[in-house]
Amino acid sequence: MQFIDLAAQQQPIRQKIEEKIRIVLDHGKYIMGPEINALEKRLAEFVGVKHCLGCASGTDALLMALVAEKVGPGDAVLTSPFTFIATAEVISLLGATPVFVDIDSETFNLDPDKLALAIKSLKSNDSSLHALPLTPNASRLTPRGIISVDLFGLPCDYDSINIIAQEYGLFVIEDAAQGLGGEYKGRKAGALADVGCTSFFPAKPLGAYGDGGAVFTDSDEMADKLASIRVHGQGEDKYNNVRIGLNARLDTLQAAILNAKLDIFPQEIDLRQDVAQRYTELLSPYAMLHPPCVPEGYKSVWAQYSLLTESPESRVHIQESLKKAGVPTAVYYPKPLHLQTAFAGLGYKKGDFPISEDTSNRIFSLPMHPYLKENEIERICAVFLASLHL
Ligand SMILES: *Cc1c(COP(=O)(O)O)cnc(C)c1O
Repeated sequence: MQFIDLAAQQQPIRQKIEEKIRIVLDHGKYIMGPEINALEKRLAEFVGVKHCLGCASGTDALLMALVAEKVGPGDAVLTSPFTFIATAEVISLLGATPVFVDIDSETFNLDPDKLALAIKSLKSNDSSLHALPLTPNASRLTPRGIISVDLFGLPCDYDSINIIAQEYGLFVIEDAAQGLGGEYKGRKAGALADVGCTSFFPAKPLGAYGDGGAVFTDSDEMADKLASIRVHGQGEDKYNNVRIGLNARLDTLQAAILNAKLDIFPQEIDLRQDVAQRYTELLSPYAMLHPPCVPEGYKSVWAQYSLLTESPESRVHIQESLKKAGVPTAVYYPKPLHLQTAFAGLGYKKGDFPISEDTSNRIFSLPMHPYLKENEIERICAVFLASLHL
């Protein structure tokens, strides 16, 4: 059994993928070939925004958005400590300061009440209200924006986050690396903030066969900036550079593969709902298992199906039992970002974000992909429940 079964996905579309790769080999436009524009058009339509720009990775998507917002030293960007490192890494890479805000214990996403509190304490330089970084320039940080993360495929509470951002004049970047295909109050993930960013890393809900990403926006001005930043800050032409940028293009070959995968993505989203629903049906009689919560009006794309165990020890035991039965599991994420060595310079300490810390100690994820069969789901749940000595 695979944790994410990319081979099962490839089988029915293998011929189509090979055909699309062959077309690229024939035309030879490996950089910014016609497949890129075709994919961008389809993705913009899928997400329901005016502009989509393909790029080299989800990390570059986030970096491009921050560069477009001219984020730099002295700026604070608020984000979750319970995410993949890339979300906060890009902030530090530009010399700005990540300011972490704890998550909601049910959705594992940024808690809007704590977000408002963090902005207030940042503005008044009062860390008694909310834990703040202890960098030498901490008292002079300017809050500039928010990176909200649609963790495990579930969108954040964007009505609340966008209102807070408006009140304080902050930009909002949606990290939809795991969220593409999810929905919030009838709108698609990627379209829920000023700029949406996603990843086509192979294991993401819409994955390529290598690295890739995309940026979404409704703003013409932002789209122009992002297009320039994607190619070395180019202006009118290649050798006219108007800003410092990146080499962050999406490969034509990856776009060709994604075009084939996008054809079946809507069906796969439905299949993911079915798998998650089956898990929840089989596990929800056991209240202590905390089946994942999807609030009214939200749709998760189920990048992961994650559960909280009663204790860190029971997680070890459950994962071992499942492993013995040939069921792979994973822990996303075993260490919150404020406790990572890479961010030691921010001066955060244990206890600053108790929900993220507790969740890191007890969470684990079951196999999740659109091609999990009913008998496999039943077996996974049976082994899992037996490991609890129920
Ligand atoms: C995967 C991921 C990224 C980074 O995407 P890459 O394509 O691997 O660079 C960023 N944020 C989150 C939440 C992710 O899961």
